[in-house]
Amino acid sequence: MPDHVDTDPRRLRIVIAGAGIAGLAAALRLHRDGHEVLIAERAPARRTGGYLINLLGTGFDAAESLGLVPALRDRDQGIFTSVLVRADGSTKLTMPTALAEQSLGDRALTLFRGDLEEALHEAVAGTVEIRFGTVVTAVDHLEDAARVTLSDGTVHDADLLIGADGLHSGIRDLVFGPAEAFVRDLGHAVAAFPLDTAPEALPKQTAATFIDVGRTAAVFRPRTHAPSAFFTYRTATAADDAAGSPADALARHFGDLRGPVHEAMRHAARTDGAYSDSVSQVVMESWSRGNVALVGDSAWCVSLFAGHGAGLALAGADRLGRSLSAHPGRIGAALDAWEADLRDDVATRQRQARTGMARFAPPSSLHLGVQNLMIRALTAPVIGPAFLRLMSRAR
Ligand SMILES: Cc1cc2nc3c(=O)[nH]c(=O)nc-3n(C[C@H](O)[C@H](O)[C@H](O)COP(=O)(O)OP(=O)(O)OC[C@H]3O[C@@H](n4cnc5c(N)ncnc54)[C@H](O)[C@@H]3O)c2cc1C
Repeated sequence: MPDHVDTDPRRLRIVIAGAGIAGLAAALRLHRDGHEVLIAERAPARRTGGYLINLLGTGFDAAESLGLVPALRDRDQGIFTSVLVRADGSTKLTMPTALAEQSLGDRALTLFRGDLEEALHEAVAGTVEIRFGTVVTAVDHLEDAARVTLSDGTVHDADLLIGADGLHSGIRDLVFGPAEAFVRDLGHAVAAFPLDTAPEALPKQTAATFIDVGRTAAVFRPRTHAPSAFFTYRTATAADDAAGSPADALARHFGDLRGPVHEAMRHAARTDGAYSDSVSQVVMESWSRGNVALVGDSAWCVSLFAGHGAGLALAGADRLGRSLSAHPGRIGAALDAWEADLRDDVATRQRQARTGMARFAPPSSLHLGVQNLMIRALTAPVIGPAFLRLMSRAR
C-alpha cells in the first residue's frame, strides 16, 4: 500500500486479513466505494472445492446488492431430489422436489462454497491486491489508525483493519484475546469433501441423506459438478478428529453404513481437499476495537447448523461498506451503526443453530423417531400440500 497522501476522509486505506467469503465481499464493496484495499491471505493460492451452501434471505439480498447474482446464477446447482436412506443404503423415502422448491423460493441459490469464492475473486480481479501466503503478524493501535505488520515484512498504517480470517481468526487472537474467550464448541465434528466418482446407485441431481442418533451423512450428485459428501457427528473429541485423518474419524463413526454413504467415505482417504473441523460458534460482545473490525465467522460464526454463515459473511461485508459511506470520516460511528444493524440477524441464526443441532444429530431415538414422523408427514397426501401452501403464503 503506497504512503497515504490523500486527504479525502471518504477514501480509506483498508487492510483485510482473509480472502474467504467475508474478506472478498468486503474488498468488492469497499473498492467499489472508492477505498484502497489490500488483502493478506494465509493460503498459498486460491482455495477451490468445498461443500454445498444455500444462499437465501439476507444472503441472497446481499449477493444482489454486491451485484453477484448473475455470476452466481451461472454456478447455481439447482434443486436436488432428496432421498432418505437406511444404514444398508436402501431408500427409506423420497422427498418431493416441490417441497424444496417451495421452501427455498425464487430468491435462492445452491452453490459450492468454492464457486462462490471464485465468483468473488473474479469480481475483484485486477482491482484489489491479494497477497497469498501472507498473514498479519502484529497490530499496533495508533491514534486514528492501526499499524499492521505483515509476514512479508511490510508495514501498513490502515484506517481500518478487517479480520475476515474465519473461525480460527488470527486477528481476533492478536487484537481481542485468546479464542477460548469467544469460541463455543457445539460438541460436533464436520467433514466435507469432493468425490472423484459418483456412488454407483445415486442418480444425477440427487442427494442421499442418512440420519441417525448423533450423526448425519449426505452425498450430493449434481448434474454437472463433481459429487460431494458431508458428514457431521456428535463427539467430545472434535478438535482431535479434525487435526487427525478425516478418513479414520469417519470410519469410526460411519463405518457400519453401506450404500452411497459407504462409497463416499472411501474417498476421504484419497482426497487432500477435505474440510474437517469442530463445529463451533463465536460469541463476542463487540466486533470492533479501535480501527480493527472482525467480519464473518471470525466475529460471529453461526456454525453449519444455522446454514446462513456465508450469507451473513456477504451481508456483514456489504452493510459495513454501506455504514462507512453513511458516516464519512467517522469510522467509530460507522462500526457502531453497522454492528447495531447486524446483531439481531446474527443472534437469531445462532439461536436457530443451537436448536437445529438436533436435526443434524438427533440426541436420542425418541428425537429421531419424531423427526422421521415429521418428514413422513411432509410427504403425506394431505399434510404435504397444506404445508406447501403455508410456505407459499409465508413468503
Ligand atoms: C459443511 C458446511 C456447510 C455450510 N452450509 C452453509 C449454507 O448452506 N449456507 C451458508 O450461508 N453458510 C454455510 N456454511 C458456513 C459458511 O461456509 C461460512 O460461514 C463462511 O464460509 C464464512 O466465511 P468467512 O469468510 O467468514 O470465513 P472462511 O470462509 O473460513 O474464510 C476465511 C479465510 O481466511 C483465511 N485465513 C485464515 N486464517 C488466516 C490468517 N491468520 N491470515 C490471513 N488469512 C487467514 C482462510 O484461508 C480463508 O480463506 C457452511 C459451512 C460448513 C462447514
